[in-house]
Amino acid sequence: MIFLGPPGSGKGTQAAKLAESLTIPHISTGEILRQAITEKTELGQQAQAYVEKGELVPDELLLGLIQERLKQPDSAKGWILDGFPRTVAQASFLDALLEELADSYTFVVNLAVPDTVLIERLMQRGRQDDTKETISRRLQVYIDQTAPVLDYYGQKGTLNHIDGNQPMDTVTAALTAVVTPG
Ligand code: ADP
Repeated sequence: MIFLGPPGSGKGTQAAKLAESLTIPHISTGEILRQAITEKTELGQQAQAYVEKGELVPDELLLGLIQERLKQPDSAKGWILDGFPRTVAQASFLDALLEELADSYTFVVNLAVPDTVLIERLMQRGRQDDTKETISRRLQVYIDQTAPVLDYYGQKGTLNHIDGNQPMDTVTAALTAVVTPG
């Protein structure tokens, strides 16, 4: 499953919940990067400046990592990707990778939330990369580079839109309905 949505849309929270109830790995590139930054690993040191500015981390740092993660045995029975793909180039990389691994995704969901609500939520969250400047840069990067990913999956006919501007449990129920057969 692929989770799309702007920063602050709640995709991290919802992806974690859904992954837990489906007992499949929740693969969040943002989490992986934040942990690497905290642990000051080589990846963390290389990614830090980008994350702090609200810019995308270069593909060289992330593509190999996604490849390795999807090859792990626990990914065999399913996974939720959160924060990846974030560009059309990453989306086509993912398609090629999945074909190579004889794997695929069943659902692509987009959590839609109006900009004004996103800004409010991000200001309240107060994560380290949630400063006023970074927030507006991340929203702009989303509009420029990530929104086209919606068209990419929309054209394939695999995109599900979920209204993310609802109470958390309502969003969880809507997502659960998408992945529940029948
Ligand atoms: P949010 O969606 O709230 O911005 P994330 O946790 O998804 O938060 O991402 C935090 C930061 O990590 C991004 O602003 C970006 O710098 C980096 N990042 C995460 N995923 C990717 C990706 N797929 N490609 C490039 N950079 C990424």
